[in-house]
Amino acid sequence: MSYPQEFQGIAILDHKEYLHPKKVNFPPKVFGDHDVDIKVECCGVCGSDHHFAKGNWGDVPKPLVCGHEIIGKVVKVGDNCETGVKVGDRVGVGAECFACLKCDRCKSDNEQYCEHQVWTLSKAYEDGYVSKGGFANYVRVHEHFAIPIPENLDSVTSAPLMCGGITVFSPLLRNGCGPGKKVGIMGIGGIGHMGIMLAKAMGAEVYAISRSNAKKEDALKLGADHYIATKEEADWDTKYKDALDLVVICAGSLSDIDLERLPTIMNIGGKIVSIAAPEASEKIVLNPLGLLGVSISNSVIGSRKEIIQLLKLASEKNIKPWVETLPISEAGVAEAFGRMDTGDVKFRFTMVDYDKELSN
Ligand SMILES: [Zn+2]
Ligand SMILES: [Zn+2]
Repeated sequence: MSYPQEFQGIAILDHKEYLHPKKVNFPPKVFGDHDVDIKVECCGVCGSDHHFAKGNWGDVPKPLVCGHEIIGKVVKVGDNCETGVKVGDRVGVGAECFACLKCDRCKSDNEQYCEHQVWTLSKAYEDGYVSKGGFANYVRVHEHFAIPIPENLDSVTSAPLMCGGITVFSPLLRNGCGPGKKVGIMGIGGIGHMGIMLAKAMGAEVYAISRSNAKKEDALKLGADHYIATKEEADWDTKYKDALDLVVICAGSLSDIDLERLPTIMNIGGKIVSIAAPEASEKIVLNPLGLLGVSISNSVIGSRKEIIQLLKLASEKNIKPWVETLPISEAGVAEAFGRMDTGDVKFRFTMVDYDKELSN
């Protein structure tokens, strides 16, 4: 069997064997009348794919088909679709593929926080079907989560915007990033490098914050106006006291972040937002008196409305994440996860060559 009865992808079959993924065929979810099928052109590789593959978030059902920074062409549209999506449209899909769209959260453009939401990979729908991501020839998602890609954006460099990009853009947007604001991006990796570009494009004065000076040159090239190396400047917290309005922590984990000292570089009313989705066992310890006048929160991805805003900004300001391509294949996915183990990526992988490896 082949499409539309079966999709084909590169899957993890055992967490211990995450560096030995296998090509598999699998049935898609039942096609709903608000669903669209997308023939995948390329797909970014996000830190959470890596977490899922390694079993950091527990033992999940197999086959585990990762990938949730998907760009492709719509090939089938459900009878009741109402967003205007058409066969042939180029669309992007991020980390979310379903939400109820009826609850207060959904109706206020917060569908990423819907209690009934389904992640694009490894989350069960109400009928028990476990979602499968974009390391596959096709994906089937609710139309709300298939977002039109502006014509002038290149698929390969835009794919990472669909999860990594929106993950940092949503907290920037919601916390006033713009002209006259001093905004820190802490952690310069896959998401942080997009954070620097986006905060700059939104008009803020941008402070890149990292442990060492190793990423200084790249951060300045990406558009940062200032660079703070917390392990190399002993007095960084007094030197930049009260400097910032907003810091988005773009690290995968908070265990290495000095949450005692970080609030001192925030002005009164300043906001610290983390986008970390660390291993399930991680906890943070905070000194309440260290947070006088400063708030701290955690954020996850963004809404359809925000993704559309992000893509418009990327289109107008010519934002191109730094991407290295790898072929979608057992070896290609293994290389992506293996190199992410050692941080050997600058700054994001996008899987390509779908037509060469996977059936049509
Ligand atoms: Zn992601
Ligand atoms: Zn909802």
